[in-house]
Order: sequence, then structure tokens, then C-alpha cells
Amino acid sequence: MRPALSRWLAGWVLAWFAALGWAAEADTSRLLPFGPEMAGFRKPVRPVRTSVEGLLWIDAEDFADYGGWRIDTQFVHKMGSAYLLAAGLGTPVSDAQTTIEIPAAGRYRLWVRTRDWFPEHSPGRFEVLVDGKASEARFGQASSDRWQWRSGGVFELAAGPVQLALRDRTGYFARCDALILATDLNYVPPEDLPGIQHERSRLTGLSLEPQDSGEFDVIVVGAGSAGVPAAIAAARHGAVTALVQDRPVLGGNASVELGVGISGAGSRHANARESGIIEEAGRIKARYRHPRMSEPFRILAEAEPNLTVLVNRHVFAVEMVGPQRIAAVRAMDTLSGEIHVYRARQFIDCTGDGWVGYFAGAEYRLGRESREEFGEDLAPPEADRITMSGCLMGNLAVGYQAMDTGRPVDYAPPPWAAKLPTEDFGRAIRGFTGGHWWLEHEGTIDDLANPEQARDELVRITFGYWDYIKNHWPERATARNYDLVYVPHGDAKRETRRLVGDYVLKQQDIQQAVMFPDRISYGGWSLDVHHPRGIYSGGEGPFDYNPPVPIYSIPYRCLYSVNIDNLLLAGRHASVTHVALGTVRVQGTLAPLGQAAGTAAAMCIERGVDPRQLGREAIADLQQTLLKHDQYIPGLRNEDPADLARSAQVRASSSAAVERFDRSSVVVEDEHPLNMSRAVMVPRGIHRQWRSIRILLRSTRSEPVAVTARILGAQQVGQFTADEDLGSVTASVPPGRAAFVEFPLDKPIDSPLVWIWLPKTEGVFWQLMASGPHQACRAYGGGESRPWTVVEGQYYAVCTEPPLAYPVACAPENVINGWTRTIGQTANLWASDPDETLPQWIELEMSRPVRINTVYLTFDTDMNTSHHTISLVPQTVRDYRLSWFDGTEWRPLAYETGNFQRRRVHRFAPVETAKLRLTVEATNGDRSARVFEIRAYEE
Ligand SMILES: Cc1cc2nc3c(=O)[nH]c(=O)nc-3n(C[C@H](O)[C@H](O)[C@H](O)COP(=O)(O)OP(=O)(O)OC[C@H]3O[C@@H](n4cnc5c(N)ncnc54)[C@H](O)[C@@H]3O)c2cc1C
Repeated sequence: MRPALSRWLAGWVLAWFAALGWAAEADTSRLLPFGPEMAGFRKPVRPVRTSVEGLLWIDAEDFADYGGWRIDTQFVHKMGSAYLLAAGLGTPVSDAQTTIEIPAAGRYRLWVRTRDWFPEHSPGRFEVLVDGKASEARFGQASSDRWQWRSGGVFELAAGPVQLALRDRTGYFARCDALILATDLNYVPPEDLPGIQHERSRLTGLSLEPQDSGEFDVIVVGAGSAGVPAAIAAARHGAVTALVQDRPVLGGNASVELGVGISGAGSRHANARESGIIEEAGRIKARYRHPRMSEPFRILAEAEPNLTVLVNRHVFAVEMVGPQRIAAVRAMDTLSGEIHVYRARQFIDCTGDGWVGYFAGAEYRLGRESREEFGEDLAPPEADRITMSGCLMGNLAVGYQAMDTGRPVDYAPPPWAAKLPTEDFGRAIRGFTGGHWWLEHEGTIDDLANPEQARDELVRITFGYWDYIKNHWPERATARNYDLVYVPHGDAKRETRRLVGDYVLKQQDIQQAVMFPDRISYGGWSLDVHHPRGIYSGGEGPFDYNPPVPIYSIPYRCLYSVNIDNLLLAGRHASVTHVALGTVRVQGTLAPLGQAAGTAAAMCIERGVDPRQLGREAIADLQQTLLKHDQYIPGLRNEDPADLARSAQVRASSSAAVERFDRSSVVVEDEHPLNMSRAVMVPRGIHRQWRSIRILLRSTRSEPVAVTARILGAQQVGQFTADEDLGSVTASVPPGRAAFVEFPLDKPIDSPLVWIWLPKTEGVFWQLMASGPHQACRAYGGGESRPWTVVEGQYYAVCTEPPLAYPVACAPENVINGWTRTIGQTANLWASDPDETLPQWIELEMSRPVRINTVYLTFDTDMNTSHHTISLVPQTVRDYRLSWFDGTEWRPLAYETGNFQRRRVHRFAPVETAKLRLTVEATNGDRSARVFEIRAYEE
């Protein structure tokens, strides 16, 4: 790419981010107390100019002041441009206003392009005021729900400035795309999309001529949890890369605009959180308390010199060379309407919707496969086009936000609000100040073909649900003082098109944990497929099915198109069945797919091959490269012959023989009501007798409540059926607060594991801790004759007196054993003796002096926590020195303070040495220095 162009693009992007930041700061009056408000997002102000005498085209998004209206750029590909939306709560939002220059006095007919989004009731109506005079027509009332021009009457205007205002009349999602003032009173604007675009171009001077805007090695389209790691990985591996994103921020569903949290295998399995780029970003998020992933992704992307980030660009077409090769993508600037062409050799579709593939003619699937097609017993008997619904999201809220007004508030729903089942609602409602992930439309509504209708349906459901909460919910008295304060307008999508690769991952691969030879990553979230009827499923509940799965592998062949030669794919549109998407779609699982696709794309560029050939010829290289960059692939370990550390002798100042888990290890992350039996299992450890068990409970009751814990022994992890009774102990939970409640237990324990079972207790919550001792797990719902449902990787908060202590093998050689996380019972790390004070050191001695210029270090950021919630993980090395031995003395290579990352790479001028040493001076809290891996290279 030309450097000047690249600088210009980079400057443009920076200007955009700066503009966003400025807008959010400047517009604090509209900030809600919940999180970053995206209402500040607007098109840079552009004066209205006319290119054709007697005709003035004014885009609504060019209004100088949006008032209470919001810009909506989600549907540019369907209706031609951005528009303004009066996303209110039933009270009209304040006027959007602007002033234009009328070149010559005369009579002008006003045309307004608008849409009645639900003609049975015409919820969103508005007027246009021209110099204070209302249009003779009300807009948003029509017999059809398509976008169309409506005449607003004739205005007598003097030359000079004229004020235009959009006056919302209903407060219910009125929308306005553009206005035209025409002196020819018989002029009628075109209604077809190409005609509209041509007319906008003719009247405003906007060029529709595609601009050649850059050439790259790799183009990634879509910057969600898959796209950002894909772009960063490609750039880090030397490919000149562009990331084209149609939103103003990065992150897709995980952005600050929408707000979906990142889950993955770690939410269901012990020590299974995804590493690599998503861990790096997640650690930044936690460290600096960013609410979601936009900012961490931006920080990492901006640090890559090979990466150009282009926001507000919607890819709407591709240019091909031959039937099977993409040459370029065409992107529309969602704000200005300008068209850019970006060329590349390899493309990665990370749009979630598979748009790039679709434009290129890639094979794809939509909806549910039949049971017979893949032999999946969870699939329906017949194939159909049903997909999982998305949710209305914005400002980190799902569905809506409601606040306590301090006085009773009645609610009368608008007549167009969805009518939800009131008798058999089928959902346990935990909290009503915001909506829930199951506020979904029916799966027959097509988020792809008619995305605006899909979003509008979710708006209807939100108001219908609030009606349920206020007027029908059995516990509605608790919501009496609450009122809606915000309803988002973004549709966070869950399932649309899936592109077909050389392999389609299916249910059995997942449930049987097939270890594919070309595996590049893994998953472990359950087969969580939502009910095809969405919120209308009533008593059948929100899931179609949701069985737990083991850790399974994902093959590289799911990541490139079966029929487009230079197209990789990563995201929820990867090559999997509808059933398999139930587990693959979580963002922690998708991010490593992105990292794998980006790495593969860069390797394709380097080797001059396409993705399929790369997989056939160099899958082991790809796998080893991913491991080197901290991606975890089950069953594969570091076998990189270039890693000079692998053959070293390793020794350390000390090693831990026991691991301790005490009260300071308990970090609360959530809580569950004791509305059923709940239990936790922990290892007994080296102490054969505990004085007491401390359980972290929160009571909402106003009086102390007695809870009786049953304590039992077990022989195997997860064996909640074991009945080696150690006794029942009753303790009192104090009222109105959370406290560690002490359950005395002075009894010898013979079994290797202990589980603690609390019965259903009204008004008491058992807090969950972010991480647990090894071998721990939790279970719920069992007891008496009912089986327990066991959840690995999650723990109810518990500790013991004396603190749990269990033997571990944390030998120094673990740093070169090829594994970089705890797997099963094997720690795979070096930990210094917690009874020895820091600093502690670990040393690698090679059989002969070697040249080294790069060292890769992998620390412990506790992969046993499911989310990136802990700001500074205690187990992580904080301050350390890296040194080499020159034959007589140790010489410095790197000195770091304040580290919070798992993976650190140090590059330096080459040294010739037989010895490397890492000295850990401080951790973020742990008494041991903990290191999973040390690699050394001459690169
Ligand atoms: C309500 C809800 C709750 C969920 N809960 C969870 C959860 O708890 N944990 C979890 O991990 N996952 C959850 N998911 C699933 C998860 O959010 C999605 O599966 C995931 O975001 C898909 O990631 P992606 O990168 O493929 O797509 P996205 O996150 O959608 O990112 C794709 C990006 O590409 C952009 N794009 C699309 N088309 C184009 C184009 N033509 N040109 C340029 N850019 C384009 C989009 O605007 C978007 O920003 C949830 C989903 C929903 C809807």
C-alpha cells in the first residue's frame, strides 16, 4: 500500500475515534448512568449544497443537531443510506434541527423519505417544520411498510437561511432518511434504490464513482470477536492488513455499542479459558476496567504497524478475477455514502453474516439441517430456514433499561406492542431493570433478508415484555416504581448465514470430542440452541436444547470456503451446522478461529498458496505457529524445532510442593439464589482434618436464618452421588448482607474430595467465585431422588480452616514441557515455593552457547476463571528481569514492572549465550512466581 495513502487512512481513522470520544464527552447531558452512551455518534457536519438549480437534497443525518433522534447506519445496504430514528419511550423526542441556505425565493414542494414501520398502527409519526411551519402531511403513516417518499406540501420560501426541524409526534421509532425541496412542483423523486442513489448523487454532488482506496496483502471484513484477532494475527505475521468494519467502533456484539460479554469453553470447563489474542485483549479490558471489548481491541489494533483499521465502511460487493477468486471488496462509507475499493490477495470474512462469501458466490447454508443430512439427533426431522433470533441491544443493555423513579408508575402499553404469553411465561425472571437474552423474535423472521423488520419486531417485543413486567408478572409489585428510561435500536445478531468450508462441523464431532488432525482450536460451551419460537415459546422455555459437551476440537477445514479459493472465514458463519453453532458461536470460541484464520492468511501470503493448499501442505506449521502465539489446541504441544529452550536444562531457586487456596483467593463474580439445592466440591488436600468450612452467603432477609450444610466425601471429581457422610452442620446466616458463614467440622476426612450441599433456602444467595482450587466444581438441582447437574469451571464460594492445601508438581522443567496451561491434574508450570520470599529465579542452560534475540514468556493469568473480570490476577508475575550469562557475569536483557499479561515477548539485539535467567521480583499478589513457558529463538 502507498505510504501516503496509508497515513491518510490512519489519520482518518484516528480522527474518527477522536470525534467519537469528543462527541461522547461533549454530550454528557444525554449520558445514562449505565455505561458509555453511543448517542454521541453522528456524521461529521456537512453543509447542504445543491448541484442542480431548484432542487435541494438534505440527508437527515446531515442535520446539525440530532436532538433526541439517533443516527442508524445498520441498514445502509438495504435502504441506501443512514437515517435518523426517534427511538423514544412514548414521549416525543426533542427536535432534530438544521439550517439550510435557500438560493432563490420561490414555492418549494417538500418531499420526505420515510417509513411506516408497522402500518397496522403507524407507531412512529412525525412532522417536518420549515421555518417553524408544520408540513401539511404527517409522516410515518402509510399503507405499506416500505421506505417511500411522501409529499409534505408546498412552502413559500425567501432566499437565505431556513430552519428545518423533524418534530417527533409519538416517541415511538419514527424514521426519516432524507428531504428534498423542489421548485418544480411536479417533480417526483425516484423510489427504486439505484434511482435514489443516483438522484442523491446528482443533487448533492456525491460521487458514486468507486475510489481505489488501497491495496493490501490481507483484508479482514467485520471487526467482531473473530475479526479483530484475525486482523491482528495477520498483521503480526507480516501481512499488510486492512480491517474493514461498518460500525464506528470495534467489537461487533462485544462492542460498547451492543455489549455482549465474552464467554467460551472456560465458562463450562476448568482451566479452559481461551488464550492468545483474546486473552491479551481481555486482560487490557480487566486491567483498565473497560466495559466491553471496543477499547482493548482498538489499543491492540493501533499498536500494529501493518494494520489499517477502517470504520464506518460497509462492504456491499466484491470484484472477482474468475469465478473463484476475489480481487477486491467495495465498501460504502455508511456516513458519507462514498464508495471505496480495497484490493488484496487473501480475504477473511468475519462479518458474522458471511457477506463477503455471499457476494463472491461462496456456498452457504441458512437455517436448520434435517436430522438425516448429518445424522444429528438434535436436528429437526425436516430442514427449514429457521435461525436463532438476535436481541435488541445498545448502551450495554439488552432490550431496555428501567429505573426506580421513587413513586408508583402505571404502564399502558402501546397497541402495537407484542402480546406475550401471560399465563405460562416459561422464563425465570432474575431482575427486571433490563431485558434478557431470551427476548427474541420467532426464528422465521429473517435477520438477513429483512434486518430492519427483525429489529422492529424486537422493539415490539421489548414494549410487550415491559407490559408483562408491569401488568402481568406475578411479582409485578416489585416493579411498581420503575419506568423505562432507554430502549436500544441495535440488533445484536445470533445466527444468519453460514458459509460452507471443506468440512462442516456437526453435533457428533462435538459430543464425541473428535480430535481432528487439522485442529486449530477448541470449544466447550454447551449445545445452546434457542427455541425456534423465541419469546413466544411460553412454557417450553427459551432453549430448544442445551446439553453440556466435552472439550472438542475445531478443524482448520471449517475456516475456508469450499469454492472460493482465497476466502478464509471466522465468526458465527464458520462452516458448522445449526446444531453445532449452538456451542461454536460464543465469542471466546470464535476469537481463536479468527486468530487461526489471520495466521493462515499471512502464511498463505508468505508461501504464495491458498488456504486449502496451506492446510494440505503445512498444517503442522500452522498449528505450531498458533501454539507459539499462545493459542491452545487440545492434545498438541510445543514441538517447534526452532525453540532453543526445549533442549535446555532447567533449574530454579525453589519449587512449590503445595498449592494453597485461602480466603484471599475468593473473588466474587456472581451469585445464585438458594431456590434449589446447590453444592460445591473441593479436594481435601493435605490436611486430613478441617476445623471449619466457610461459605460465602448473602441474605436478603431481615432476620438471621439457619442453614444446614450436608458435608460428604467423594472419590472422584464430579461424583455428587457419593454418600460418604461427614455430617450435617447448621449455622446462622446474618440478615441483609453477604458474609462468610462458618460451619464447624472437626472430623477426620478420609476421602480425597469433599462436597458441601446447601438446601433450598428462601432469601439466601450463594456467591460464585471467579476461580476455584483445582479439581473443584459445582452442581445444582439434585438431592433426594433427583440427579445433580454438574458444572465444571464454576464454583460456589467456599474456603476452609486451615486453608485448602494440596500437593502439586510445579517443577522448573515444566516451562519447557510444551504445555502452557493446567490440564486435568497436571499443573504444567513452574511455581516457586510460596514459603520462600521473592525474588525467585528460574534458569535455562543450553548444552552449548546459542544466538538468541527473542524470548517468549507465558505467565499465569488463571485460565480457570471464565471471564476477564479480575483486574490484576494475583497469580501473574508483575516485576521481572530477564538476563543472559556472558561466561563471567549475568547481563540484563529486559526489565519489566507492572506486568498483567499472560504472554510477553522480548526482542533484543542477539546475544550468544548458554544460559538465560528469569528473575521474578514481584507478583500481583501470589506468594509464588508462576511461569508456564519460556521459549528462546533467533528470529
Ligand atoms: C443477545 C445475545 C447474547 C449473547 N450472549 C453471548 C454470551 O454471553 N457470550 C458469548 O460469547 N456470546 C454470546 N452471544 C453470541 C455472540 O455475540 C455472537 O455469536 C458473536 O458476536 C459472533 O461474532 P462475530 O465476530 O462472528 O460477529 P459480530 O460480533 O456480529 O461481528 C461482526 C462485525 O462485522 C460487521 N459487519 C457485518 N457485515 C459487514 C459488512 N458487510 N461490512 C463491514 N462490516 C460488517 C458487523 O457490524 C459486526 O460489527 C450472544 C449473542 C446475542 C445476540
